Amino acid sequence: MIPFYDLKKIHARYKEELTDAAARVIEGGQYILGQEVEAFEKAFALYCGVPYTIGTGNGLDALTLIIRGYKELGVLKEGDEVLVPANTYIATIISITENRLKPVLVEPDRHTYNLDAALLEKHITSKTKAILIVHLYGRVGYFEALHLLAKKHHLKIIEDAAQAHGAEYKGIKTGALGDAAGFSFYPSKPLGALGDAGGVTTSDSKLAGVVRALRNYGSHEKYHNLFQGVNSRLDELQAALLRVKLTHLDTENEERRTIAQRYLREIRNEKLILPEEPASSKEHVWHLFVVRTRKRDAFQAYLARKGIETLIHYPIPPHKQPAFKTWSTMSYPVSEEIHKTALSLPLSSAMSEEEVGEVINACNEFE
Ligand SMILES: *Cc1c(COP(=O)(O)O)cnc(C)c1O
Repeated sequence: MIPFYDLKKIHARYKEELTDAAARVIEGGQYILGQEVEAFEKAFALYCGVPYTIGTGNGLDALTLIIRGYKELGVLKEGDEVLVPANTYIATIISITENRLKPVLVEPDRHTYNLDAALLEKHITSKTKAILIVHLYGRVGYFEALHLLAKKHHLKIIEDAAQAHGAEYKGIKTGALGDAAGFSFYPSKPLGALGDAGGVTTSDSKLAGVVRALRNYGSHEKYHNLFQGVNSRLDELQAALLRVKLTHLDTENEERRTIAQRYLREIRNEKLILPEEPASSKEHVWHLFVVRTRKRDAFQAYLARKGIETLIHYPIPPHKQPAFKTWSTMSYPVSEEIHKTALSLPLSSAMSEEEVGEVINACNEFE
């Protein structure tokens, strides 16, 4: 069996370091917002190249609290429109609706699966106040034209960086590309905790201060509450484990990149559409290697028979979900096509060269 993503095997490599980190927390006696959270926030901010990281309970809360923070600052308000890719994971969209702003779904580019500046401009109205970009599958979704468009229309750029820790655009890392970014440290993400965790990065000191208060009941100082906040703190134990994982992030990204490049070179089958490689290899950290085929379900069953585990990211687009019933008649043909045809191949730093070869052979022999 070739598992899709063998977390147990990855964590076995760091067993001693992870165990030491956990022991430090157990023996330290400080379990909420202690030294580990503070140290991880500093280390991750430094890694991304921003002054501030604020740890949160998960990635959805990180995104939700950015928008909530902008509302508290008077930058955004209920009813404002936020442009967002139609093919994203549903969490991106919930962060907008939870704040009672209006998501405006925009079709992605067929090759990058990310937003396309030419399509974006048509959706801009007097109510548009932000673009929530998603670095989908680990590929940077930020580019010069997007920056210029945001500047021209005075829009905030918020990054959903949940799949792209460490990816870079012209030397700038995700988390530092827009005005603020939300990261997920869900276990299987490029930088994953061993449970739920998330974080916000920003260079905006005002936003950082508000988000820091909001994640802790709206309190900036014990028992003094500026806002009606939430409880979404980064867990102390997860922060300690994330400090270990962060030191291995670049290596793991590079290991996945090497496998992805081999897939791109060696998978040869007319029935499969391979992902496009960006101009600079740094722009992709290959959280997922998504191939597309009209015979997706047959392809998945065929690989399963060969002992190769695959996943679909994602089977149903957000606008077809029962959660957004009122959107069910809307039509986003590009997104719908992607959802119907996409299949993610196994890709992790735990894979051996033989396993990668087996996946390639199976793909090449698929009829
Ligand atoms: C994982 C993910 C999220 C949500 O993160 P959680 O930590 O699971 O809340 C948001 N957006 C995208 C694109 C994701 O992949």
